[in-house]
Amino acid sequence: MPRSRYPETRWAWVEIDQGALRRNVRAFKQLLQPRQRLCCVVKADAYGHGALACAQVMRRSGADLFAVATVGEGVALREGGIKEPILVLNEPPITAIPELLRYQIMPSVYTVEFALALGEEAVMQHQVAKYHMAVETGMNRIGVRSTDVVEFRRAIDFHRGIQCDGVFTHFATADEPDGWDFQLQVKRFNEAVAAMRDAGFACGIVHCNNTPATVLSPATGCDMVRVGIGLYGLQACERTRARMTLEPVMSVRARITRTIRPAMGEGVGYGFTYRVPRAAVQICTIPVGYADGLSRTLSNRMEVLLRGMRLPQVGNICMDQCMFALTQTSRQPVAEAEAGEVVTIVGRDGDAEITLDEMARLRGTINYEVACDFGMRLEKVYL
Ligand SMILES: *Cc1c(COP(=O)(O)O)cnc(C)c1O
Repeated sequence: MPRSRYPETRWAWVEIDQGALRRNVRAFKQLLQPRQRLCCVVKADAYGHGALACAQVMRRSGADLFAVATVGEGVALREGGIKEPILVLNEPPITAIPELLRYQIMPSVYTVEFALALGEEAVMQHQVAKYHMAVETGMNRIGVRSTDVVEFRRAIDFHRGIQCDGVFTHFATADEPDGWDFQLQVKRFNEAVAAMRDAGFACGIVHCNNTPATVLSPATGCDMVRVGIGLYGLQACERTRARMTLEPVMSVRARITRTIRPAMGEGVGYGFTYRVPRAAVQICTIPVGYADGLSRTLSNRMEVLLRGMRLPQVGNICMDQCMFALTQTSRQPVAEAEAGEVVTIVGRDGDAEITLDEMARLRGTINYEVACDFGMRLEKVYL
């Protein structure tokens, strides 16, 4: 049964199962060799799960380092008391450098201009700034081209204000590690690292694996893996599902705010995209809408759980609310729904379950996006 702790000011919330998060982190730790580090990716507010609260669970469960997408996300972790190294997974604008140094946050670096500007500012502040070098091996997103890495290091390594703490790349097709595209990225990355070492440049922590690569291709694990989606109990792709059992961390719940029995033929919601087909239909309102991450594209297509029953959402999903229908059938009469009853939008209720994967399929997207979306506005309750 859904638990009863919920925010006082709104009858809709996200539940975060800290025990499941801890067990997922430990499961990834167990996949690693003892010398390998675990970098927990908590960008986008930990994929909608709440970055600071999740990072605190993760550090107690074996996180060695945290990765974020923006400098602001790193600052929020530091201000929340996170002491582990923090890496920003791309190169911020040069104007962000004072903030990086003030909070001891490592940027990813792939332009000479940024590297030298970082070095200059660090020297002025009597610091040595650590950075991770991003290598472009095929995804064509960020990084120094794998064939240019030695030249790049020659252009910046003279500077005493900077120190390379790591070298990394990112895979575009980690869900298919036997494929040629993946193998080519691995080959280019290994060659780039070898070329730098041959030329006398230290590489620090070498890392490339995200969640699917960590599960499907542990051999490419290097010195550290960067795991995101798997920590939150979500599968990166169908192939990882067979290899590793994970526990979903996020549930989304609401309480019914009001119910009504409209006459047959009456419409529901903006545009009347649903009309009550007969008399015995109870329309229930819950205070969750598309501004909370419940995409409007799900209107009249998704279901919610009430007392373990799957019930259809009806009418267009509004910004802050939506409706679902409880229809009485003569064969199986059920008790009327009442204001205050708990409804599950994502998660388990009795034997029934609605997963973020199911919602992602309906929306034509991936579980990553659905999880991030629910992080937008709903208050999080940590169980
Ligand atoms: C987001 C991200 C990850 C984590 O990916 P998951 O598939 O969630 O494990 C790792 N590395 C980089 C560079 C990323 O941007």
